[in-house]
Amino acid sequence: MPFTQVDTLLLEEYKAKIETYKHLESIANISSWEVDLITNKSIWSDQSYEIYGLDKETTQPSLDIFYKHLVKEDLQRAKDVLADAITSGKADSFECTFQDEQGQLKNLVLNAKVIFDEDNTPVKLIGTTQDITTLKQLENKAKSLSTIMQNTQNEIYIIEASSLKYLYVNNGACEALGYTSDELLSMNIFDINPYLTKEHVFEFKKATPSDDDSLVIRTIHKRKDASEYHVHSHIHKINYQDTATYVIFGTDVTIQKELEKRLEHQATHDALTSLPNRFLFHDRLAQLIKTSQRDSQKFALLFIDLDKFKIINDSLGHAIGDEVLREIALRLRKSIRGSDTLARLGGDEFTVILGNIKENAIIPKICKKIIFEIKKPIVVGEHTLHISSSIGISKYPKDSCVDAELIQYADVAMYHAKEDGRDTYKYFNQMMSQEANEKALLDSSLRVAIKEEQFEVYFQPQYNLCKGCVTGMEALVRWQHPTRGLIPPAEFIPIAEENGLIVEIDRIVMRRAMKQFLEWHQAGLNPGILALNLAMKQLNADDFIEVLTRTMFELDFQSQWLELEVTESQVMKNPESSIKKLKRLSSLGVGIAIDDFGTGYSSLAYLKKLPLNKLKIDQSFVKDVVTSEEDGAIVKAIIALAKSLNLNIIAEGVEEECQKQFLQTNHCDNFQGYLFAKPLPPQKMTETLQELKDKNDV
Ligand code: C2E
Ligand code: CA
Ligand code: CA
Repeated sequence: MPFTQVDTLLLEEYKAKIETYKHLESIANISSWEVDLITNKSIWSDQSYEIYGLDKETTQPSLDIFYKHLVKEDLQRAKDVLADAITSGKADSFECTFQDEQGQLKNLVLNAKVIFDEDNTPVKLIGTTQDITTLKQLENKAKSLSTIMQNTQNEIYIIEASSLKYLYVNNGACEALGYTSDELLSMNIFDINPYLTKEHVFEFKKATPSDDDSLVIRTIHKRKDASEYHVHSHIHKINYQDTATYVIFGTDVTIQKELEKRLEHQATHDALTSLPNRFLFHDRLAQLIKTSQRDSQKFALLFIDLDKFKIINDSLGHAIGDEVLREIALRLRKSIRGSDTLARLGGDEFTVILGNIKENAIIPKICKKIIFEIKKPIVVGEHTLHISSSIGISKYPKDSCVDAELIQYADVAMYHAKEDGRDTYKYFNQMMSQEANEKALLDSSLRVAIKEEQFEVYFQPQYNLCKGCVTGMEALVRWQHPTRGLIPPAEFIPIAEENGLIVEIDRIVMRRAMKQFLEWHQAGLNPGILALNLAMKQLNADDFIEVLTRTMFELDFQSQWLELEVTESQVMKNPESSIKKLKRLSSLGVGIAIDDFGTGYSSLAYLKKLPLNKLKIDQSFVKDVVTSEEDGAIVKAIIALAKSLNLNIIAEGVEEECQKQFLQTNHCDNFQGYLFAKPLPPQKMTETLQELKDKNDV
């Protein structure tokens, strides 16, 4: 039967529809098919071949082909579902895994419908197949993500933005808080964040970025058992189940917090006494200045230094020194109010800030109390120690409003307390500051002087009147200051001893003097023994003996040409250790003289133990030896002592003939003093030695 025009139109329309379906199938990755249940013949749409991964040209579509490609586990199920559908007439959607010709696995969902004829016999099965592989992959990913989320140790919460109620909590959150998830889901964030206020939330909401970024905050969570812990939280704004929510990822940082606290404590506290250290003290002082400025309050800063603590440390050892410091810290704490700051700056230096002072009278009261408390005997093991302290006081705002100045001024005042005989307190005044400035200036220019060796060595001869010759000479340092000219040692040696620079200075002097001596020897002159002043710091320097022997070796200087002068008072400060060190020097062949003898309260017991060659009678006795009966008697006694110990004796500072006479009459034959010669620069000394030689040669 030929096609009518209408037929042709219908056909065209039908073809167009088929094309559209094809496109739709391909877009949705869905295919359609049918199975004739009578003939068992199947028809597949183009997309079916695509989904099954089979070639349309070579494949005869059939149920068997489909079954053949199903994974084993799904095959029987598929057949059962089909049989079920045919008998019941109802077909559910069926999910299965299909392996295509290339071996690739695909997740498919099949939906089918059974068509019956008029006799209610099932004749056709029609249906669709959808490729849900990608969807399935996503679902699996989401599943594993949610498992991870649920089970991670970290706490995860989702809260509704409007009500701040929990919509989701993971196991980590439940475990951390001790609530069940049901309990938490009936709560809001204020129930577990006891310190959170509505204002905080308002601020957080404003600050939480809406994109991928998160807001990071630290909070404190309260558990069901009311205990608390620190949490570090990341907050994200997201849409969850069509609701505006916040996701909070929380980590318990209690341990870190503790660690941070401990580290901070270590950094700001002294390990020995647990008192605030220098850094924290500076910090507190700066804070106090700010608040005192605001509230117009006054405070005082006490700088406390133990007297002669070094001796305890040196003679009894550091362990006992440490015990003493701990005890002192306790006593200081007891002497002040709880609100006052007490710190240990280092060594035996403590500071106290007496805050909010209304009555000035409180300051001396507390100082006296501190001095009293420290003075009580301290028992450490078998030792009972008696320690005193010196306190310097600076006042805010009277002395300064600057933290560093307040500390410096109290420190300066403390030194004045020491100079005033220790065991006392002193207020700072501006005069002290001027002195301190001068000292600081001298300190820094001394350092330059050492670098540039701005020192000259003068020599003062020592005469033996019996022999009528120069037996030796004392090297005396002078500082050739670039602007101030020649500075005598009295003006810089005490500071150099205090800041330790004396060690460097004396090494310069030692090398210069030895070199000069060698030159004289080489020129055929006889300078005798070289007397060098030896500072205690030098003697105590670990490498002193090594430096000395090396210098002598390098310069070919013989040890028996050298005599070291140590002052009596320095030796008596720490006689036991001095004896040890001087013995080592003496064993090298170096002579030892006690300088300024008569001023240092030597005990005879120690004197006998010291490896001495010579006593030098102090100038102060020589000065009045004729006019003062007492001084005359002392000088006589010193000479007798020297003779009995079999030591040489020399009088220094001899200026007048009558002094010389007195000394000679009393059997002191060695002299050093202006009467004979002043300390001379090397050139002058060369001339003197030359003259002496010429005289002797004649
Ligand atoms: P000192 O060791 O007692 O030295 C003797 C001081 O008395 C020297 O003072 C000397 O110039 C001075 N003198 C000598 N004869 C007379 C005199 O007849 N009458 C008077 N009034 N004085 C006299 P100088 O050179 O000013 O040294 C002072 C102190 O500085 C020294 O006292 C010593 O303790 C120290 N000193 C000097 N040079 C050095 C050095 O190189 N190293 C160290 N560590 N100390 C030094
Ligand atoms: Ca001397
Ligand atoms: Ca002297």
